[in-house]
Amino acid sequence: MRKIAIMGAGQSGLHLAIRLLKSGYDVTIVSERTAEEIFNGPPTGATYLFNDSLLLEKELGLDLWNDTACHSTAFNINFGTPDGNYAFSINSKTSKPGVSIDQRLKFYQWIKLFVKNGGKFIVSDTTPSDLLACTEQFDLVVVSSGKGPLAKLFERDDNKSTHEKPARKLVQLHINNFEHPEKTKFTSITLDAVMGAGEIITAPFYQKDDIQCAFLLIESIPGGPMDIFDDAKSGTELLKKSKEMLRSLLPWRYQAFENADIIRDDAFLKGSFTPIVRKPVVHLNSTSSVLGIGDTVILNDPIVGQGGNNATKMANLYAQEIIKHGDKPFDAAWMNKTFDKFWEYSKHVNRFCDIFLSPPAPYVVDILQAAIQQPEIASDFVNGFNNPAGLFPWLGDEEEARMYISGKMTPVQANG
Ligand SMILES: Cc1cc2nc3c(=O)[nH]c(=O)nc-3n(C[C@H](O)[C@H](O)[C@H](O)COP(=O)(O)OP(=O)(O)OC[C@H]3O[C@@H](n4cnc5c(N)ncnc54)[C@H](O)[C@@H]3O)c2cc1C
Repeated sequence: MRKIAIMGAGQSGLHLAIRLLKSGYDVTIVSERTAEEIFNGPPTGATYLFNDSLLLEKELGLDLWNDTACHSTAFNINFGTPDGNYAFSINSKTSKPGVSIDQRLKFYQWIKLFVKNGGKFIVSDTTPSDLLACTEQFDLVVVSSGKGPLAKLFERDDNKSTHEKPARKLVQLHINNFEHPEKTKFTSITLDAVMGAGEIITAPFYQKDDIQCAFLLIESIPGGPMDIFDDAKSGTELLKKSKEMLRSLLPWRYQAFENADIIRDDAFLKGSFTPIVRKPVVHLNSTSSVLGIGDTVILNDPIVGQGGNNATKMANLYAQEIIKHGDKPFDAAWMNKTFDKFWEYSKHVNRFCDIFLSPPAPYVVDILQAAIQQPEIASDFVNGFNNPAGLFPWLGDEEEARMYISGKMTPVQANG
């Protein structure tokens, strides 16, 4: 039985581990924290998953909150002007639902399931020297430690990385009494964008203590008018400042937040990071290499909610490639080839993120304007969050966009 070690019990590592375990592999997870420490630890990114990722979780029996958590089936994207006026909206149903489950709850339950099914779970903060020792004991070592320090072992890929500094400062709050006072149960994910300031994103959030609330993610452009949270230290303070910001910059959205409360004073996350793509393989010596997965190697800004979706899809692809490889050695050439296969998909994801992080090109504005008039375009755009590869080439190129729009706007001629 082939032995696989996975460093990090997060979105990609656990998914990969459980998938391989189901296929008969001998799998060991090395995690810096116990399941209980993860559950009782600080909040992580909201990680709204779109339907293709949810289906991958369902295949493994990991969709444990299918009947309890509020899933959303619509997407609203609203645009405002910097002087506080509402500009326009794109609204569409999503073809299949998505959901955001607190990762602390997910990882806790998934670790229990992994161990129950025969997986080995070791608690240790992996260091670079541990990695070399692991390559001697295992057929393959995969590093899934997210943004943690081990990622720095993986060299930046300058050809694939487009950022030198954080594109946004992030504040995420878990709130209640939002949209519908008394009860937060709503069926849409909403992204509100103000040119030059940033974006706010809201969606239902199933918090680890079985509280159905919402997350509010604020993506402020550094130095812009939304960038006001540096001094705020508590959840209550962050929410107060958020409301002030909403009242002045997005008054057309303010009402939905007027009565919002934070569910606990520590139910927040605040920080920033530079999006980066790293080379997927670390050569520890002339014969030993390790392979990176998830945020360790492809770290995107959460503006279009892709990191967790990518981590899930990458875990699924890596598992398929591991199984296909049979008894052959997992050498560096195989590792690079496996990552490259995923990059064929993720290059679209990364481009999609960058389009949202940049001031919109005129042809992108044309697509958005066309989406107001033509529901099919709105639907293509909104459903593209589930599979960003489907947004290209038309979202990435002026000429392709023109052809796409005219194809969708031209009425079909009746025959005869
Ligand atoms: C504010 C915010 C909002 C987000 N919203 C979304 C969203 O809506 N949709 C979406 O798809 N994505 C979203 N993301 C991104 C998503 O959360 C991540 O991309 C995803 O969790 C990455 O999975 P991963 O497996 O690479 O890392 P993680 O899930 O972070 O797991 C890494 C694990 O490794 C462990 N670890 C670290 N170092 C070590 C070590 N040395 N030894 C052992 N273990 C170690 C950590 O404790 C952790 O448990 C968001 C991110 C942020 C910051």
